[in-house]
Amino acid sequence: MEKGTLLYEGKAKQLFETNDPEVVWVEYLNQATALNGAKKDMITGKGELNNQITSLIFDFLSRSGINNHFIQQISATEQLIRSVNIIPLEVVVRNKAAGSFSKRLAIEEGTPLAFPIVDFYFKNDQLDDPMITEDHMKVLNIATEKEIQLLRQMALEVNDVLKRLFKEINIDLIDFKLEFGKTPDGAILLADEISPDTCRLWDLKTKDHLDKDIYRRDLGDIIPVYQEVLDRLNKREGD
Ligand code: 5GP
Repeated sequence: MEKGTLLYEGKAKQLFETNDPEVVWVEYLNQATALNGAKKDMITGKGELNNQITSLIFDFLSRSGINNHFIQQISATEQLIRSVNIIPLEVVVRNKAAGSFSKRLAIEEGTPLAFPIVDFYFKNDQLDDPMITEDHMKVLNIATEKEIQLLRQMALEVNDVLKRLFKEINIDLIDFKLEFGKTPDGAILLADEISPDTCRLWDLKTKDHLDKDIYRRDLGDIIPVYQEVLDRLNKREGD
């Protein structure tokens, strides 16, 4: 597989063409951002950790029957994925109140929710990723009724698999954000990354944050914390 020209540069990843039109080469970067890019830093080692954690999690999701874009990890910071058109939605699953949900509705962080909820946000930096309703998605041709139901179902399936996986390593999966893409034949695949950048992960016993809130809220250094998540996942794989 040969790495071609740069297709897209995001906040935390670069995507490159390959000599196979169906395959994209991803490089995870050390850049960390928050507040829609207003807070930005280079953090050595972050790209490697997120690539390794995402690769491990997507491999686990593949083995659990979740259709996704992941092909293989090819280096410490790189992976190959299937080429998809990203649906401009952030699909957030919440098991406990935290973050924007807690703030908007004045519900204490950590309050359990009676059932996992799925929130949709329109992926648009200029608009600051606003929350979006099902009618909005349909009227703006972002997704059809059938696609919305599939996104919701897949998001909840991912939640079931990941909640169990993290519980085994003493981590409480509070909430997380997913992105999905469409293949040329219209199939919907789970895409993007799943890492401490995109999930809220709390230690089951101490409730310590093991995720990007450490960076967002200036609570300390993310590297040892992300390394802890990777070490626990690797140890579980080895067991
Ligand atoms: P909240 O709605 O509280 O901001 O985020 C809910 C969950 O989705 C958190 O786990 C958070 O990490 C993730 N999330 C939401 N939006 C984004 C985003 O734009 N980038 C990243 N990395 N994660 C996000």
